[in-house]
Amino acid sequence: MDCIFCAIAKGEIPSKIAYEDEHVFAFYDIAPQAPVHVLVIPKVHISSVDALDESTSELIARVMLAIPKVAKAAGLTNGYRVISNVGEDGCQSVKHLHFHILGGKKLPETMA
Ligand code: AMP
Repeated sequence: MDCIFCAIAKGEIPSKIAYEDEHVFAFYDIAPQAPVHVLVIPKVHISSVDALDESTSELIARVMLAIPKVAKAAGLTNGYRVISNVGEDGCQSVKHLHFHILGGKKLPETMA
């Protein structure tokens, strides 16, 4: 399987690392849409939120619990936004589950 985020999590493609533990990897987005833009991913390949089920519940809990750690380490003390795009209508361009953490300024209220 050819997945760019799997390669990033393995260190095969370089990234600016924001956080890492046994199951979770976070790195700065290459095309930031806010002053701080970090992507949080599970190290194992899961295609999107739509692929989650009971078998991945422990892993997804680990990913979610990493988000406030990443935000704190990135200096987001005044709030931030967490987004996961899913599929065609969600404009998901990389088919490896990821949560965008966006912050560092007051973000626009509307998303769609
Ligand atoms: P999405 O459109 O929700 O699938 O988001 C994919 C994100 O991955 C985009 O914000 C891209 O800028 C980002 N991205 C793609 N390739 C890389 C890379 N090599 N390093 C860091 N971020 C990347």
